[in-house]
Amino acid sequence: MEKKPFITKEQVEEIVKTYPTPFHIYDEKGIRENARKLKQAFAWNKGFKEYFAVKATPNPYIMQILKEEGIGADCSSYAELVISDKVGLKGHEIMFSSNVTPKEDFELAAKMDVIINFDDLTHLEYYDKIADFKETMCCRYNPGGDFTINSQIMDTPSDAKYGMTKEQMKEAYRYMMKKGVKNFGIHAFLASNTVTNEYYPKLARILFETAVELHKETGAHIAFVNLSGGVGIPYRPDQEPNDIMVIGEGVRKAYEDVLVPEGMDDVAIYTELGRFMLGPYGALVTQATHEKHIHKEYIGCDACAANLMRPAIYGAYHHITVLGKENEPCDHMYDITGGLCENNDKFAVDRKLPKIDIGDYLYIHDAGAHGFSMGYNYNGKLRSAELLLRENGEVKLIRRAETVEDYLATLDFGPFPMEKM
Ligand SMILES: *Cc1c(COP(=O)(O)O)cnc(C)c1O
Repeated sequence: MEKKPFITKEQVEEIVKTYPTPFHIYDEKGIRENARKLKQAFAWNKGFKEYFAVKATPNPYIMQILKEEGIGADCSSYAELVISDKVGLKGHEIMFSSNVTPKEDFELAAKMDVIINFDDLTHLEYYDKIADFKETMCCRYNPGGDFTINSQIMDTPSDAKYGMTKEQMKEAYRYMMKKGVKNFGIHAFLASNTVTNEYYPKLARILFETAVELHKETGAHIAFVNLSGGVGIPYRPDQEPNDIMVIGEGVRKAYEDVLVPEGMDDVAIYTELGRFMLGPYGALVTQATHEKHIHKEYIGCDACAANLMRPAIYGAYHHITVLGKENEPCDHMYDITGGLCENNDKFAVDRKLPKIDIGDYLYIHDAGAHGFSMGYNYNGKLRSAELLLRENGEVKLIRRAETVEDYLATLDFGPFPMEKM
């Protein structure tokens, strides 16, 4: 499928008069339409709720839009809980799916009365010393082995640090029932960025069967099954996108097959999607500032891996459109690089693109999730601004760019040069 930017060259030329490149920009209209489609796909389930994975795009303005669409937050750290609180999300509008959890994080989660998802059996006694168990608690499940779809290995839960074994799940439920917990959730995240409509239905079937077993063996009331994240997006133009309606229907079928015959037809479905909610609705916009002709052809731009890390660390593909040259032939081959002193700082390698001239704007697609949020300050590079393209066409600054003063702020303890240590 052809990948189309949600802004034009003319719009970018207007934006840079106020906000210079590089910047991340998000598309409010796309975010809202997609959120509504997700809700529609799971409308058959009375208790359905999406908890947006905050780590994907931890910006309160984005979370506010999602909140208006009825979406909560999935947090895994103290700061993410604080952001969610600032957005006005309360109590059970927030899931806390953390691991290796610090004491302070559990304390805050308990104080905010969010739904806590325990990653491990040993967390129960640890938590017991920190706060009271609530009426509703959740446990994260790790079935081990390989996770396959049509005998193709999608991921390897046996190598994943998350979750508990089935026996530990039973023990955890029994422990918490003694502590007065009434409602239980099951959570699992078994494969990431799946571009197949079969992931959620397959996962759901595993979790529903586990729910039945846990209920039968412990007597616990299973209130919800949390399918977590993992529904992916087509980063490459030749990939077939997921159809969320088909996915919702597949989960419904598993629900009818497994839970309904057991009389467990009050189980709510929760999701914690990040990438699917925001990925395609954010882009990194950068300007070509340098060219270099050595053993290969290079275009250097004003963004770098510090603004979008996925290509550098995962070798991930991000489609690039040269704005204003959408219809020109891709008859040049480039490496598109940033300025880090790291040779993996390349947004694209051997990419066929139209001829790029200095000053052209490059639109790096699908940077809306796990993009800005993974940014870092290596080489003293500063984080960019984040902008929001409103539905009415206005552009709003939703996070200012970092300054050198921000970079130095944590070093503010005394005059330099240092005297004696
Ligand atoms: C990262 C994460 C998610 C979101 O994953 P996506 O691939 O962005 O959908 C959801 N839940 C938990 C616990 C996570 O760690």
